[in-house]
Amino acid sequence: MSMNAVGRPTRPEDTAETSAEFKSLTGGKGLLQYERLIFEKKDYTRTGVDFADIDISPSDLGDLVRGDDLGLPGLTEPEAMRHYVRLSQKNHAIDLALYPLGSCTMKHNPRLNEKMARLEGIGDIHPLQPTSTVQGALELMDTLAHWLKTLTGMPAVALSPKAGAHGELCGLLSIKAAHEAKGQGHRRTVLVPSSAHGTNPATAAFVGYSVREIAQTSDGRVDLADLKSKITDDVAAIMLTNPNTCGLFERDIVDIAKLIHDAGAYFYCDGANFNAIVGRVRPGDLGVDAMHINLHKTFSTPHGGGGPGAGPVVLSEALAAYAPTPWVVNSGNGYVLEEFGEDASAANFGRMCAFHGQMGMYVRALTYMLSHGSDGLRQVAEDAVLNANYIKASLQDIMSVPFPDGPCMHEALFDDKWLEGTQVTTLDFAKAMIDEGFHPMTMYFPLVVHGAMLIEPTETESKAELDRFIDTLRALAASALATKNNTDDVARFKNAPHLAPTRRLDETKAARQPKLTYG
Ligand SMILES: *Cc1c(COP(=O)(O)O)cnc(C)c1O
Repeated sequence: MSMNAVGRPTRPEDTAETSAEFKSLTGGKGLLQYERLIFEKKDYTRTGVDFADIDISPSDLGDLVRGDDLGLPGLTEPEAMRHYVRLSQKNHAIDLALYPLGSCTMKHNPRLNEKMARLEGIGDIHPLQPTSTVQGALELMDTLAHWLKTLTGMPAVALSPKAGAHGELCGLLSIKAAHEAKGQGHRRTVLVPSSAHGTNPATAAFVGYSVREIAQTSDGRVDLADLKSKITDDVAAIMLTNPNTCGLFERDIVDIAKLIHDAGAYFYCDGANFNAIVGRVRPGDLGVDAMHINLHKTFSTPHGGGGPGAGPVVLSEALAAYAPTPWVVNSGNGYVLEEFGEDASAANFGRMCAFHGQMGMYVRALTYMLSHGSDGLRQVAEDAVLNANYIKASLQDIMSVPFPDGPCMHEALFDDKWLEGTQVTTLDFAKAMIDEGFHPMTMYFPLVVHGAMLIEPTETESKAELDRFIDTLRALAASALATKNNTDDVARFKNAPHLAPTRRLDETKAARQPKLTYG
């Protein structure tokens, strides 16, 4: 047995019996106890709170008096706490290990951000307070807006959208309002490249546009010839992601912007993954008219179950007048919230949501910005890209890459060509990663790449952690390739995950026929 310097064992002895074969008596796994659903803990006799008896005459409520049990679980405070902590331990978390979901940008959230978001005067204010009592919060929003405009080189920003997809909606509604104001309401088509994130065509359709798909070249970029042939008089906008969802920079972006503008249309850029270029490239200089920025990706606020996020939209001069309300104005005599636009005939399309957006996310994102400074934010992009290229370079001799020429941006894309002749699919490989302690990468997206595996490490991972991840993937890849010649390793993949609290789920059935009751 190995011992550390003070003589404590550091690794369990290898035993013939693996934990996969061993079954505990209770269904628990080591220190992870089996956990029932909270509503299965049917005992309504206990409470974690000591309420005084209330004295309400039932006659006040008439026939509204409840006759049956409320049906809430009866738990003491420690029982309630343990229930949720046990559940949380059944999931992967960014605080447990690298979370390589491409396009999702799952990065460490500095604790400093959380501390700032909870400051008295920020964590406990209410959106209906008089603005004279929340001047600091409004100044914070104004400062965040200033940083976003400076980093993107754009003159206006709408802070209120609550996620990337909501930002897309905001951008397209601004574009629609601008076309209608210019008598161009007949423009009903939005161009979307075939590699786009699913939210792009979905947003266009939701706004009432029809979607025209643009082909991509063999090196993973927009096919300019195809684009030119599809720009007609009815085109309202193009929605383009840069870096695109193959993790590649669109080299022709300036030409694309010119083509679109010459046709009288607007250029919407999906800036969810601004983390790849922040501090290096200003989208305003590329000809972008509207772009959402996922604060919860680029500027490290929690998401993926830990949200909510925020998706502010920066707007060009051409679209600034169509920004939704509200916005913060520094009146020289304190900050005010412009809630209705400049006058009754203002061109803006109204509000995206009640109140002013996700204040807690503004605080976290601004904390990330200020703690990095402008030089640090540039390094965010550089390190995110460096880390992704390190992964690509360390794996491409064993796993195949669809676009091998040149560096990638913030994420490394692999396909499943290297699995040909093995008995393993992209899904099997991803599930086997769970047994090794890593969350799977994004799979089967982008749709244009067969069996895609999209890996994004982000800038917050150290080289040591990247090496651990790479070593794990190399070992798994070797095991997958071995299934070409023998069946010894097949079960490792086909039955994976072996060690997770729940095994392989029928995801299609879960989505199509969700079981929404228990018992
Ligand atoms: C994450 C993402 C979105 C959607 O953002 P949400 O905040 O999840 O709505 C859109 N486009 C791209 C490229 C993304 O990565």
